[in-house]
Amino acid sequence: MNRDFDVVIIGAGVIGAAMAALLVARKVCAPGRVGIIAERLAPDVAADAAVDADWDVRVFALSRASERLLRHCGVWNSIPPQRIFAYERMCVWDAGGAPQGPGSLSFDCAEIGEPNLGFIVEGRALQRHCLRQVSAAGVVLIEAGMQGIAVGDAEVRIGLNDGRELRSRLLIAADGTESKSRELLGIGTAGHAYHQDALVAHVRTAKPHQNTAWQRFLATGPLAFLPLPGGRSSIVWSAARAEASRLAKLDPAAFGAALTAASGGVLGEVQVTTPTVSFPLKLQYALDYARPRAVLLGDAAHAVHPLAGQGLNLGLLDCASLAEVLSGAADPRFLGDYKLLRRYERWRRSENLLAATALDGLERLFSNANPAVAGLRAAGLKAVGNLPFMKRQLARRALGLIGDIPSFLRTDSAHGRSSV
Ligand SMILES: Cc1cc2nc3c(=O)[nH]c(=O)nc-3n(C[C@H](O)[C@H](O)[C@H](O)COP(=O)(O)OP(=O)(O)OC[C@H]3O[C@@H](n4cnc5c(N)ncnc54)[C@H](O)[C@@H]3O)c2cc1C
Repeated sequence: MNRDFDVVIIGAGVIGAAMAALLVARKVCAPGRVGIIAERLAPDVAADAAVDADWDVRVFALSRASERLLRHCGVWNSIPPQRIFAYERMCVWDAGGAPQGPGSLSFDCAEIGEPNLGFIVEGRALQRHCLRQVSAAGVVLIEAGMQGIAVGDAEVRIGLNDGRELRSRLLIAADGTESKSRELLGIGTAGHAYHQDALVAHVRTAKPHQNTAWQRFLATGPLAFLPLPGGRSSIVWSAARAEASRLAKLDPAAFGAALTAASGGVLGEVQVTTPTVSFPLKLQYALDYARPRAVLLGDAAHAVHPLAGQGLNLGLLDCASLAEVLSGAADPRFLGDYKLLRRYERWRRSENLLAATALDGLERLFSNANPAVAGLRAAGLKAVGNLPFMKRQLARRALGLIGDIPSFLRTDSAHGRSSV
């Protein structure tokens, strides 16, 4: 096997795989010059496996910018259409208010001239088709765990847990929240634990979801219903650890009843159709994103509260920004140039910090039961609802249509639309 690369990516989650596919699609690297280290490869990655019988419990809400990026690197069109669901509206409301009434805020894709507000995509299908694209593009998939990193003047050496050693001009760390690469590169983190877990499951509801993402802010944390095909929804319920642990232990009927009550009956009676999976939540950001010959991206660089479904979207923007910056290298020998990597760091660290701080602020604002704060929230929601321009800007920013985004994501090549 080739052990000499221009770029080695550690971690074959969606972010690592999308980065690899993008480097080849943007012609930053020749296919065989990119290696990706995957701890485990799903057995059907290379095979032409049939579509799974049902959706996996993990789903992601993806923005227009993420859709464009995945189209650009050839992943989007390969995901079976029955594993993607476009949603058209969003309604958020405070526990003390009512959906589409006082204390609520609604968005409709028609208000911003878009066909939808984004997509709910099955996580397993997304991951699988990212890896298949990587493999089809000629990227070298290396099934192993990364164990050691040694940065030299001209190259970085990466030790694997099977004893092999790889050499590369640049190392890209996409190994998630607990990133070992980050630790080995000596990059610290800041942030705090939310002392909350997010419970995830699929449900069937008595009333139709109307292609709408519903989110109720409770004092204990937000509860979201993301619409799926066939009248089902995916729920994400964030609650204090002890409460989340109690809820996760309920039998399906009791958990369904708890969801019906917590959602204020917005979709009628809720019936749980899958096991419940739990994720611990924290706010974490890396103090640096770049070192000579190494960069961090995705959850290795930032972990945010899932209340606005932004973590993966932010990570995909990291990928696009890094690809754009690296395309400025005159020669593959300069891919690890610290000046170049610092440009990526300056670009994405400020954008991600802004998003993480905003999400953290929202979490604090909505989990505060103080009546004065509740009054302020209601007034704020009403004010935004009465300012169509501001509402449109919020929706367009959430879709990744505005902001400091890489130029190749500004145009929808598939539909010939461009955004400013
Ligand atoms: C409940 C919940 C709901 C969410 N919903 C959304 C949403 O709707 N929209 C959205 O945009 N985001 C959402 N997110 C955020 C999203 O899940 C993450 O941002 C995203 O999965 C991060 O992807 P990643 O590839 O950076 O990391 P990961 O998915 O953690 O992948 C890291 C990879 O690195 C590998 N790895 C780790 N260590 C090593 C090693 N030493 N050697 C080799 N490989 C290694 C791992 O095996 C793994 O494959 C949600 C998060 C939660 C908790």
